[in-house]
Amino acid sequence: MKTIGLLGGMSWESTLSYYQSINQGVKAQLGGLHSAKIAMYSVDFAEIEKLQHQGDWQKTAEILAQAAKGVQAAGADCLLICTNTMHKVAEQIQAEISIPILHIADATAEQLLADNIGKVGLLGTAFTMEQDFYKKRLVENYGIEVLVPDAQQRQRVHQIIYTELCLGTIKDESRDEYLQIVDDLYQRGAQAVILGCTEIALLISPSDTHVPLYDTTAIHAQKAVEFALSEND
Ligand code: GLU
Repeated sequence: MKTIGLLGGMSWESTLSYYQSINQGVKAQLGGLHSAKIAMYSVDFAEIEKLQHQGDWQKTAEILAQAAKGVQAAGADCLLICTNTMHKVAEQIQAEISIPILHIADATAEQLLADNIGKVGLLGTAFTMEQDFYKKRLVENYGIEVLVPDAQQRQRVHQIIYTELCLGTIKDESRDEYLQIVDDLYQRGAQAVILGCTEIALLISPSDTHVPLYDTTAIHAQKAVEFALSEND
C-alpha cells in the first residue's frame, strides 16, 4: 500500500472527514484491521484565511509548499490538498515536490463525466466560484459547463463557509438557504451540483434534495484510496 500525503487544516473540520473517509475506503477494500498509511501536515487555518482575504496568494503558496515538502519527506507517495480553494496555488506547490498532487477538480470532473453530466452547478468559496483556477479546469480540460449562483447568493455561500462551517457550526436556516441555491441552479439547467468546498457536505447531503450532489471531499478521498491501493508505482 502506498502512503497518502495530506495537506490539512483548511479547515480541520473537513480534514476530519478526509481522514475518516480514506480509512473507511481502505477498510472497505482490504477488510479487517487494515487502515490507510497517511502522512499529514495540518496548518493553522487562521493564518491562511487572513492571507486569502488579503489577496496574498504568493505567501499562502510558500507556506503550503513548505508543508508539502515535509509531507513528502515523511514518506508520502502522493499529495492531497484538502481544500478546493487552495488548489489556486497547486502549481506552485507541485513545482516544489516530486510526488504527484491528486487534483480535486480532476477527480470530480472524472466522476461527472463517468455519470454523463456535462452541465453542473458549483458551490464553494467566492474564490472558487468567481476565479478561473477551478472552473476553467472543468471547462477547458473536460468540456463541462459550469453555472455559479448569483452575486448575492455567492456572498451568502462564502459567508456561511467561513463563519459557520469552518468553525463546526451547522444551522438549519443555512441548510435551507443552501438547498434553495441548489434548486435555483437546477432550475437554470444544472444536471448536478458540485459541493466545491470541503465543508459543505457537513451541512447538506444527498437525502436533502432530489438534485444530484458531488461531494468533493468524498470523491477526492476515494481517488487517494485508489492511488494507494493501485499496483503500479
Ligand atoms: N475547505 C474550503 C474549500 O474547500 C474552504 C476553506 C479554504 O479556503 O481553504 O475550499
